Amino acid sequence: MSKKVLTLWSGDVVNEEEEVSILRSRSEEVPVPFSNDRKKDIKTLIDAFLTRDDAVGLAAPQIGIRRRIIIFRNKGFDEKKWSGSEEDYDVLINPRITQSQGDMVTMSEGCLSCPEIQVEISRFPEIKVRAHDVNGRKMSKRYTDYLARVVQHEMDHLNGKLIIDHEGTLYIPQQRQESFVDVIRKMRIPGEG
Ligand SMILES: [Zn+2]
Repeated sequence: MSKKVLTLWSGDVVNEEEEVSILRSRSEEVPVPFSNDRKKDIKTLIDAFLTRDDAVGLAAPQIGIRRRIIIFRNKGFDEKKWSGSEEDYDVLINPRITQSQGDMVTMSEGCLSCPEIQVEISRFPEIKVRAHDVNGRKMSKRYTDYLARVVQHEMDHLNGKLIIDHEGTLYIPQQRQESFVDVIRKMRIPGEG
């Protein structure tokens, strides 16, 4: 049973205000040491992530938990390297980028919370992140290339920022071109409609 991932729209209909507002809000820090409730949040996110085979990463607000927790496959989206065991994914709690390096690289990205579309987004090819691990221990890790992109994408979610909030070229599937014009317009300008 997989946990529902919140989305801005379903088909060509904008979702309920409540669902949209969770995706749009800034998530809260997880106080350390973790309380039992927060440990439950972490486990819920890990379990939700592990039941999916279509996600390279997932952020807590995407499943309705407004906390600064993200999870992602640490070897990229390569089925051969994916066993679903602990060494194949990273969980970062209260992540903070402490260094970003290199010339921005532009690539198109999709997101489970913005179904069917892709947006070209420029991101740093190398970042250093400070965070807490699942046990609440401080950690620091460097990510490069695709993984650096994934981490930046998931961290955007913690600030309520989604791929459509980036300026880059938007790709909408042919059959949705017309019906999505309104959806995207509503979503790109918060507060309108
Ligand atoms: Zn996403």
